Order: sequence, then structure tokens, then C-alpha cells
Amino acid sequence: MGKQSQRSVGEESAGEVVMGLRESFASGKTRSYEWRAAQLKGIIRMIDEKEENIMEALEADLSKPKLESFVHEISLAKSSCGLALKELKRWMKPEKVSSMLTAFPSSAEIVPEPLGVVLVISAWNYPFLLSIDPVIGAIAAGNAVVLKPSEIAPSISALFSTILPDYVDSSCIRVVEGSIPETTALLAQKFDKIIYTGNAKVGRIVMSAAAKHLTPVVLELGGKCPVVVDSNVDLKVTSKRIVVGKWGSNNGQACLAPDYIITTKSFAPKLVDALKVSIENFYGENPLQSEDISRVVNSNHFARLSSLLDDEKVSGKIIHGGQKDEKLLKIAPTLLLDVPDDSLLMQEEIFGPLLPIITVDKLEDCFDVINSKPKPLAAYLFSRNKKFEERFVKTVSAGGILINDTTMHFANPNLPFGGVGESGVGSYHGKFSFDSFSHKKAVLHRSFGGEVSARYPPYTPRKQKL
Ligand code: NAD
Repeated sequence: MGKQSQRSVGEESAGEVVMGLRESFASGKTRSYEWRAAQLKGIIRMIDEKEENIMEALEADLSKPKLESFVHEISLAKSSCGLALKELKRWMKPEKVSSMLTAFPSSAEIVPEPLGVVLVISAWNYPFLLSIDPVIGAIAAGNAVVLKPSEIAPSISALFSTILPDYVDSSCIRVVEGSIPETTALLAQKFDKIIYTGNAKVGRIVMSAAAKHLTPVVLELGGKCPVVVDSNVDLKVTSKRIVVGKWGSNNGQACLAPDYIITTKSFAPKLVDALKVSIENFYGENPLQSEDISRVVNSNHFARLSSLLDDEKVSGKIIHGGQKDEKLLKIAPTLLLDVPDDSLLMQEEIFGPLLPIITVDKLEDCFDVINSKPKPLAAYLFSRNKKFEERFVKTVSAGGILINDTTMHFANPNLPFGGVGESGVGSYHGKFSFDSFSHKKAVLHRSFGGEVSARYPPYTPRKQKL
């Protein structure tokens, strides 16, 4: 497949990149099943052949443990691509729907069509998966694509720019590297859909830029994901699943990582003990030296997290961990008990290895705490009480809800992945990705039969009585 040079993109050349993609899209070649399948096969081949390079880049950008890189990024990307390839013909088929009597005889169908040129702006924390997964959806739906990986994961960004053109049709799929100026230049162009993964502040910038062109957006944002723990749980399993969901998800730098725990005052001591045991079992006595935990991505985020910890409202509340190593960019898994709600730690998404535990008198008080904050991307409940579980699902508005585990719902392609309110707009994954990057065209087919004179003027008194 043809390689095109990846020049650095200023305002003018961002326009050129998009113009080139528009021409390729207008040629019609991205629409065929064969083209789409060839690109998806190319991506699978890229993942297979460049697995080591991807692992190395993730190690360089985040010192991500190899197992996490493989399970959370490489293997999920490959299965997403495999699923799209397997289901593509079925997804592309028009869907027959029933027609109405007043249009008899007629038939109706919904025809999925590609939108055109899609912009994917990706984040640094799962820099491989969060870049390639939306690209897979956009290609499956027959679009041309620009991928703008995050500059905060520079090794993965450079890798995409180097290797992707060897595996896909680069007249239709381009990588543009860069930070704010390059992204701003891209956002000035007209796209047919933009999918942005990152924080809500930039989400607003993306949405405003898109509004100028009436471009629809998917915003994959974050938030404070609560974990509610009942006293009737299997404590060992619960603590392991919370600990792996927090520190085993890129050291808490994950949109779905537990942000804070809510439990009852009476149960908190038992839960805290169990969490401490799991942390030590997983990461040893000196977690700063553990190779099974990612580092904090860079010194800016290290400083941000340090200042959250050093806040005078918070620093006295540390009950486990709290050690830092600025050189290694590591902060130990840290538990905090009953930090005040007006501290920054409880007001902002933490996105790092700090886990506050909030205690309430009765478990149902959790709803007041959760509902006092913007809607999260995920909400987790550990409980054996089915009635409470039902109430939780009904009462809590979140992008997704997971009972008795953390983060796992992300890997189910039959569930839409996306936020609600402050945690995002729209969703993707599996068939939802295909739908997200397609227009559902309504088509009604009629013949020349079935004429009804009452439809046509003049609207005589007799016709008006009908
Ligand atoms: P980031 O810093 O990598 O930024 C994301 C993208 O926005 C990058 O490509 C960057 O170049 C671009 N960008 C930054 N500033 C910009 C500006 N002023 N104008 C235009 N583009 C700009 O990532 P981040 O925001 O630090 O990511 C962390 C956030 O993302 C957290 O809130 C997290 O919860 C959320 N997140 C959400 C998901 C999800 O799937 N819902 C996944 C991962 C992260």
C-alpha cells in the first residue's frame, strides 16, 4: 500500500491533509467491503508484526508492565479489529424495516453509509488502544481518517506515524503528530465526525471547533468513578478487584479506574485492612520498586498528584502509602480516609495512585455523595444485596455500571462504551463504533401503483370528510 510523506502539519498543510483525504473519499474507494477488509487485515498484521515495538514504546512512555500492555492495549485492539472484520458484511447490510399502510405498496430500509473524513484525537494513558480502536471503527464504517495521537506518549505517537502507512492505504488513513498547535490546525478544518478522548476542558474546545462546521462529535471523557462497598461482600475478592482496577490500570491513570470508595463507618476498618493486604500481596513491601506498576506519566502530572497529597486538608488523612520518588516518577498506592469533600482530591478526577475512602452512616447515603458530583464514566458496586443492586442501577447515572468488579465492562464489545453528562457524549466499541461512524440513511422504495386520490388537491369537501 502506498506510503505518503508525513510532513509536520501547520495550518496550511492540515488543510492539505484533509483535502487529500476528501479527494480519496470522493473517489469512492473506501466504501467497498474489500477496501475496508484489507485495511482491517493490515492493522491486524501490523499488531502481529510490531508487537515488540509497541511494547517497547509503551514501556518508554509509561513504563507500563508488559502484561498490562499486552492485555489492556495490544490484545484488546486486535480483538476489536478481528470482530469488525468478522462482522463487517453483516454490519454493512441495509436493515429492512416495516413500511406503513398509507404508502402501500412500498418497502423501507435503513442503509448505513460512511460519513466522510473522520478525525481521531487520542489520549496518552492507553495511547495504542485509544488511538487505533476508533480508527478501526471509522475504517469499518468506510471513512477516511486522520489520527492525531497524544504528544504526551511520544514513542507511541512516533511509532504510529512510522508504521501505520506500511500497513494501510495512506491515501485514506493519515497520522498527524503534534500537540496543541497541530491539533488546533486540524480542528480548524471541516470533518464529518470527530472523536476525542481526553479531559473535559479540551472536550469543550473540540466541541466548539466542531460546532463551526456542524460536525458531530464523540467525546470520551473521564470523571470521578465511585466504588460503593456493602458489608456483605466477599472481602478478599472485593479488595483484589478494587486494587487491580485502581493500580493495575496504569497506576490509576485510567478513565475507568476507581476514583474513590464509599462504605459504611462500621465496615471501613475491615475494608481498609483487606485493601492493605491486597496492595502488599500485589506490589510488595516497597511498591516504589515494583515492576508491576506503571510510573506517573511525566513531571507535570507528578507535581499535580503531589500537590493533591500535600494539600493540608488531605495530608493528615493518609492511612497507607504516600511515599514518592520524584526521580522515578513513582507514587506508592495510597489510601486516605475521610478526606473532606471540599478538598481538591474529592472535587477533581484524581487520575493517579491515590484512593480516598469516604464513610457514611448507612450505605444508601452513597447516593447523595455520588449525585452531588458530575455524572461519572463508571460506577461500581460490590454487594450481595439484589434489591440494593437494582436501586443502584436505577438511581446512579453513569456511562456504565459494573457490579462486583471494576473496569471489566470495557472489554465487552456488546456494551457501548461512553460517558454521560460531564463524562462524555456518544459511545463506541464493537457494532457501536460502526454505528457511530455511519449515517443511517432512511430509504423508502415505492412503485407507481397504489394511487389514492384523497392525497391530491383540490381538497374537496368529500375528501375532507375522509
Ligand atoms: P492528553 O493530554 O493526551 O490530551 C488528549 C488530546 O487532546 C491529545 O491528543 C492532545 O494533543 C489534545 N489536546 C490537548 N490540549 C489541547 C487543546 N488545547 N486544543 C486541542 N487539542 C488539545 O490527555 P488528557 O486530557 O490528560 O487525558 C486524561 C483525561 O482523559 C482524563 O480525564 C481521563 O479520564 C480521560 N480519558 C477518557 C477515556 C475514555 O475513553 N472515556 C480514556 C482515557 C482518558
